[in-house]
Amino acid sequence: MQPTIRPAEQFDVRRGNLSVALRRLREAGPRSRARLAEETGLTKATVSVLVADLVQRGLLREVGPPENRGSGRPAVDYELHDRVYGIGAEVSVDYLSVTVLDLRGEVRARKRVGYDVPRAEREATLDALSQLVRETTSEVPGRPAGLTLAAPGNVNPGTGRVDYAPLIGWYDAPVAAPLADRLVDQLGDAALRVEVENDVKLAAIAEHALGAAAGTADLAYLSGEMGVGAGVIAAGRLVRGTRGHAGEIGHLPLNPAPAPCACGRTGCWETMVGLGALLSLAADPDDPVHDPQRDLEERLAVIVQRARAGDRRTLSTLEQVATGLGLGASVLINMMNPAVLVLGGYFAVLGDYLLDGVRREIADRVVAADADGCRVELSRLGFDAAALGGAYAALDRVFTDPTVVPI
Ligand SMILES: [Zn+2]
Repeated sequence: MQPTIRPAEQFDVRRGNLSVALRRLREAGPRSRARLAEETGLTKATVSVLVADLVQRGLLREVGPPENRGSGRPAVDYELHDRVYGIGAEVSVDYLSVTVLDLRGEVRARKRVGYDVPRAEREATLDALSQLVRETTSEVPGRPAGLTLAAPGNVNPGTGRVDYAPLIGWYDAPVAAPLADRLVDQLGDAALRVEVENDVKLAAIAEHALGAAAGTADLAYLSGEMGVGAGVIAAGRLVRGTRGHAGEIGHLPLNPAPAPCACGRTGCWETMVGLGALLSLAADPDDPVHDPQRDLEERLAVIVQRARAGDRRTLSTLEQVATGLGLGASVLINMMNPAVLVLGGYFAVLGDYLLDGVRREIADRVVAADADGCRVELSRLGFDAAALGGAYAALDRVFTDPTVVPI
């Protein structure tokens, strides 16, 4: 008997094929319909229909002028359009940031402002953030496909809530829905989907998609900010865990001293290698590097300057942090056996002074020889990595199901 295909199934097949075509153009660059058919195994007739659909949705456009291939009609190439973009936003301890990434993977706008999140009311922070989103997107033509907010701590993307974020004082806090409400008012786009995810996981997504080690199937990312966390990509997929909280490596009890941690425990790894630990080792409390009113990158530049000048306290701090960083990193490498470990946040900024010590400690602590083949690299995405990953994740919806962008 001939199996019957219900309309819903046909629609799913079509959505799947649209996704295949769109992803192929992202991976491989501009192509003719004939070549796309050849490479995807779809018929030329199907590809023609799919491409026409994607053009109507504003996701593809013709590349001009077409390449002339000898005699006959030249084949027209198609490429991803730049008129659909994803928005990534980040709430960190002392700043808010927004990055706009278009479908082609190019950053179209980014803004960051200093903001004392732990001291502010959550509602006020969400107001300021939505204002920053409006300012940043106002410079970008086209339409948003969605927004992903990065937050430090335990985040549950399924509920749109931040479960536990002691660094900013958000507990069991609804975030996605209130932010979406504000953005409907501001951007007037009722269809804008807002999601929330852990900042380190989004930074790992950005590294995996757009960073120096992009495409590495087994990649681990360590963020160095006030908190320290890991984002792990295993066999090409982000490791989330059953509640989405995987990666809280900053709270492994690795510090032999009972230093108090923001989580309420003592001796967490974060208290050895987090930004707070680095700054208090490096300078007295009245030193300007502690001033939260000053931009973090400026403050870190002061540390780099002192290290360059051979300042003893700075150099011994960096050595101590490097050893501590290698200690925790070796736990991660022993557990996950990544091909690349990317150091982000302040670890990357001070990387030139940390890498040797980190590599030495890893060589010592990783059980398998040769650090188990793990390369340690510095992130080139800077403090915007989480927001960039958020924008990328927002766009991923479109690549998974291009019909989310209406015709
Ligand atoms: Zn802790």
